Amino acid sequence: MARELTRRSLPSGRIARVVMSEAADGDIAVGSPEHSVPCDRLIGEAPRPWTFLEQVHGAAVAEVDRPGAATGTRADAAVTEVVGATLSLRVADCVPVALIGKQRIAVAHAGWRGLASGVLDAAVDAVRLSDGDSSGSLVAVVGPHIGSCCYEFGLNDLTGIVDLFGPAVLAETRKGRPALDLAAGVGVAMDRRGVAVIADGTCTCCDNRYWSFRATGTTSRQAMLAWIEHGSEVV
Ligand SMILES: [Zn+2]
Repeated sequence: MARELTRRSLPSGRIARVVMSEAADGDIAVGSPEHSVPCDRLIGEAPRPWTFLEQVHGAAVAEVDRPGAATGTRADAAVTEVVGATLSLRVADCVPVALIGKQRIAVAHAGWRGLASGVLDAAVDAVRLSDGDSSGSLVAVVGPHIGSCCYEFGLNDLTGIVDLFGPAVLAETRKGRPALDLAAGVGVAMDRRGVAVIADGTCTCCDNRYWSFRATGTTSRQAMLAWIEHGSEVV
């Protein structure tokens, strides 16, 4: 069932929440999420309509100025400061990242192509844009994704990613094959921007609670949902 990855108070007293669905919560791949998601309690708490992106492994960031806005936009990150505007990502093995700033939150879809394209930098910039905060206090919440244990990777592409993020991304699978450590890449990218990371660490390929393209070739997807809700706001 869905899990809450984090719940953080913002300086205003509002609350930022990040929830991750699991395979048991249904396939959040295509069509209307309103009809495809069963009524898990946590998922039901995410205000609707949600913003769903057309994810293309790029670095574009969609600005969400009201609930459901920018749905269908070709982008791999979304940002908002609007209460009740749920941002969503669909993933099977790629890394879902939520960024929580002072007033704004973002989600970013960081597979290896998105990571190499700079989607995390673009999302950090979008959060900081009107947060008036060029350093500190930004937190990245990293959801379940494929671990290096299972992520065998071609040496040519691996070399290109090492050029961008350093040798920390080099790993071996459980079978001793060359592997990409996506979490390490996310860690390097966030460290360069001074962003603290809270990592889940679950491997979608090892753990059958999650859909995994690498494990089964599935087209089904789980979702990361992030939104801001009213709390005891400072007036
Ligand atoms: Zn694994």
